[in-house]
Amino acid sequence: MRSISIFGATGSIGQSTFDLIRRAGGAEAYRTVALTGARNVTLLAEMARELRAEVAVVAHEEELPALREALAGSGVEVAAGEAAIAEAADRPADWVMSGIVGAAGLVPGMRALRHGGMLALANKESLVTAGSLLLETARAHGATILPVDSEHSAVFQALTGEDAGAVERVIITASGGPFRTWPLEKLARATVAEAKAHPNWSMGSRISIDSASMFNKALELIETREFFGFPPEMIEVLVHPQSIVHALVGFRDGGVMAHLGPADMRHAIGFALHWPARGDVPVERLDLARLGSLSFEAPDPERFPALRLAREVMRVRGLAGAAFNAAKEVALDNFMAGRLGFLGMATVVEETLAVLSAETGLGKAPTGLEEVLAMDRYARVKAAECAAGMRED
Ligand code: NDP
Ligand code: MG
Repeated sequence: MRSISIFGATGSIGQSTFDLIRRAGGAEAYRTVALTGARNVTLLAEMARELRAEVAVVAHEEELPALREALAGSGVEVAAGEAAIAEAADRPADWVMSGIVGAAGLVPGMRALRHGGMLALANKESLVTAGSLLLETARAHGATILPVDSEHSAVFQALTGEDAGAVERVIITASGGPFRTWPLEKLARATVAEAKAHPNWSMGSRISIDSASMFNKALELIETREFFGFPPEMIEVLVHPQSIVHALVGFRDGGVMAHLGPADMRHAIGFALHWPARGDVPVERLDLARLGSLSFEAPDPERFPALRLAREVMRVRGLAGAAFNAAKEVALDNFMAGRLGFLGMATVVEETLAVLSAETGLGKAPTGLEEVLAMDRYARVKAAECAAGMRED
């Protein structure tokens, strides 16, 4: 029986993963090692009981008594705290979902790779902040990273059986989010509720807002560069409001392989779950005749500066990804708390990167995780200062 763990089990990706596991037979078909969450103790406990998990872990220590009570008599071990989540990743599992949001997903993913199984990677921040370390760790331990971000799963699928040397360009699509057609003046006044309302995908609130600002696509550009190793000039973004084509790979002979699928993350998760086979995944089937047409347009760098900032990070590499992601997370926290305007997020990230490049330079390749985590912490301090400075203006 295959063993699995789900990090971020209570989130949007975690729930979609759980849904697929349950439909495939649940505890009768898979041996569940670890399930983790942060705040949603009730849901975590329900899932842990149903899947008969070995251990359930919450990120926040104050939630431990509630988790212990919810799982009393179940035989499921309980634990809490950041270190306990990392320790849960030390328990070997054949297939691990990395579905924690933010830089908090990096350490558990890295630790899980050390037993050489499969890491289904939804947590794009891991690749953005520590891409080379992650890939090296996977190589050193014979582990396989399977991309779960829909665009990257699509590129992976389009590349299967192809010679990477024959690739000319890789195009990832973006829906354009809820503000695709908004003018700059209106963007400046966009609210959190408006930014969360993604037109096509149902996702966690942080990634939904990142989609509205195109910071999500910015992270994905960097993710594409880090995971597939193509140089930045070969990677493009194309706005495609219907979110049906997820990525395209163009070859030297002019041919282009596109990957199409419904806007349902269970496709990409299911692909990773069954890989290298193709399993039955219960997503809605495409009906192109009903859709009628698909449209495409170039992204607007003026209204969505995140893409330009990502290009700079792709050029510098080294610790720039860790700085970029940390600054983006702080900017997002400030926007969500009503302390920063929608367009202010890109300003905070740009200023933080400028301050850090002037102070320390960002191009040095990290030799270990500690350097990445130190940059993450330092960039958060600098970004918080930038955000506070903007409030005073
Ligand atoms: P959600 O916000 O829905 O879920 C996040 C999960 O992480 C929850 O289980 C949450 O616990 C847990 N969590 C939050 N903070 C911490 C922390 N500090 N330490 C440990 N666990 C924590 O996010 P999504 O599922 O939308 O996204 C997860 C990842 O997948 C992100 O990196 C995102 O970019 C990526 N992704 C998501 C897609 C989507 O469609 N949702 C598509 C492509 C990529 P709790 O809920 O209990 O508080
Ligand atoms: Mg994506």
